[in-house]
This record gives sequence, C-alpha cells and structure tokens, in this order.
Amino acid sequence: PFDVLVIGGGPSGASAAIYAARKGIRTGIVAERFGGQVLDTVGIENLIGTKYTEGPQLAANLEEHVKQYNVDIMNLQRAKRVEKKDLVEVELENGAVLKSKTVIISTGARWRNINVPGEAEFKNKGVAYCPHCDGPLFAGKHVAVIGGGNSGIEAAIDLAGVVKHVTVIEFMPELKADRVLLERVYSLPNVTVVKNAQTKEITGTDKVNGITYIDRATGEEHHIELEGVFVQIGLVPNTEWLGDTVERTPRGEIVVDKRGATSVPGVFAAGDCTDSAYKQIIISMGAGATAALGAFDYIIRETKTD
Ligand code: FAD
Repeated sequence: PFDVLVIGGGPSGASAAIYAARKGIRTGIVAERFGGQVLDTVGIENLIGTKYTEGPQLAANLEEHVKQYNVDIMNLQRAKRVEKKDLVEVELENGAVLKSKTVIISTGARWRNINVPGEAEFKNKGVAYCPHCDGPLFAGKHVAVIGGGNSGIEAAIDLAGVVKHVTVIEFMPELKADRVLLERVYSLPNVTVVKNAQTKEITGTDKVNGITYIDRATGEEHHIELEGVFVQIGLVPNTEWLGDTVERTPRGEIVVDKRGATSVPGVFAAGDCTDSAYKQIIISMGAGATAALGAFDYIIRETKTD
C-alpha cells in the first residue's frame, strides 16, 4: 500500500506529492489530467517569484518537479470512490483498487460555463473567469461581468478599480449578492447593472468585441461594445464522485481543518475542491503542502509501522 495517495494532478496535488515524497514515504498520484486548470490558462503573472509563465509551461514544470522524486504517477486515471476501511481504499474507473494509509483529495474545480455562442471560441481572447488573474489585462477597457451573485458583484467591484467600465449582466430580476456588496457596487460611478437580461452571444472577430443580451421583460435585443467578458456564475468543486464519504459544504466543497484534514481520519484535501477562502495557484500549492505535512503527521502518530 501507499503511505500517501494523492488524487488530482493540479498545483495542489503536485505540491502534496512533492512534500510527501520528500519525507521518504511511499507516494502515488492519480490524475485524470496532469496539470489541472493550469492547462487551460494562458498568461500567469501572479505566481510569486515567477514574473510570467504560461499554463502549459507551468504544468510541464509541475510534472518535471514531481518526477524528480520517487512518486508513482498514474496519469489519465479517474478516481470514482474513496472508502475508509483499515486503510483508505480508492477505486479507479478502470476497476483498480488502490490502498493507502492516507489519501489527499485535490481534484480541483471547474468554472460553470454560460454556454452561449462565442464563449468557447473567445476563451482567453476576451472571455475570462478569474478577475484576480486576468483583471489587469483589461486596464482602461470596457468589460462585462455575467452573474450578479456574490462572486459576480465582487468581481465587478474589483474590476471597477482597474478597467474603464463594468457592465454587470444578471439573468434574474434581482441581484442575489449580499447587501454590503450591493451598496458598494451601486456607489461606483463606472459600473452599470443590467437585470432580467439573458446573455445571447459573445461577439468578436479574432477577440471579443461585444455582448448581446435579451431584455427578458420586453424581449428586445441589445448589443454592447466591449473588450472583455468575465463569466461569474459559479465555481463547481469536482467532488461529486465522493458521494457522502467526507463532509462537504452545501456548495460541495470539502470541509478541511488547518492541517487539511477532512471529517474522515486519514483522508486529507487541498486546493480548489475544498472550502478554502480563495482559489488561486499559489494558494492551492500552499494547501497541498499543508495537507501532505498533515498526512505525514497522521502517519507517524496514528498508523502502525510495517
Ligand atoms: P485543479 O487545477 O482543478 O486540478 C485538479 C486535478 O484533479 C486535475 O489534474 C484533474 O484532472 C484532477 N481530477 C479531477 N477529478 C478527478 C478524479 N475523479 N480522479 C482523478 N483526478 C481528478 N490562478 C492563479 O493563481 N493565477 C492565474 O493566472 C489563474 N488563471 C486561471 C485561468 C483560468 C482559465 C482558470 C480556469 C483558472 C485560473 N486560475 C489561476 C485558478 C487556478 O488554475 C486554480 O486555483 C488551481 O489550478 C487550483 O489547483 P488545484 O490543484 O486545486 O485544482
């Protein structure tokens, strides 16, 4: 059996595997797609210590770094079940059952798509999902934020300080964000809020040049010229496969303590799949390190040596 088995090959999983392997313990990593969300990212400017890198480059660096150590890498494998018995068992979709003293779940998250024409086509060409990451690329420009929940309104407030103008587009007749956020957003001179509006299309040529929406009250179609669209209709953790084994928040995020431990002894979690406050590369790498050290601590205290 493994001492530490990491599920997920994004920044948090890679970090957890390296920290575990450096303790000289038997470490494995199962990843559906090594690199994770980073593979879908173009420019990265906020990985501290690296002024600029690109997603595929960072993913390759993560894999190369993990390969420096004695880590059993099982890429292109999807986990479908985790169960605590004497050891923790992880079943893969190919039928294999892996056993480990500890498991670190780092299966990440995915941005919910709006699924309108133009979204996929202009991803990274004006269509963005992360204001902390891509906001500065739109300095002095006009952008839209789709979604008027907490993340959408936070994004609008954040972007308003960087870009020229923000138009928030909300499908429902009212914004769902917290009151303090609404007060703040309505106080900003360069934010316009459009409610009861259905996004129809993100337009562009080689990059985004506008957005078309339908006023749901009148059925009228409107077009706004702008350079960027931030889709903020939810970040969904990849935790459906866990069933009810570990405690999760109503949003599906795995609840972890300060050592990355979950509600199941021996099962740890890190990164975007957890209830961590913010979702970023550097934060998930830190969380992966924390979970690996937490797992190591657990092994030396709680499990029999063999
Ligand atoms: P992920 O990167 O989501 O990795 C999850 C891993 O788990 C993947 O390997 C996946 O294949 C695997 N997996 C999922 N389910 C299973 C399963 N059942 N079995 C096995 N494996 C599974 N952050 C920044 O800090 N700066 C940026 O500039 C930046 N730009 C971004 C741009 C885009 C377009 C996106 C989408 C995100 C961006 N982020 C950025 C956010 C950042 O990518 C994430 O916070 C980070 O990747 C989270 O790492 P993670 O390891 O927790 O999860």
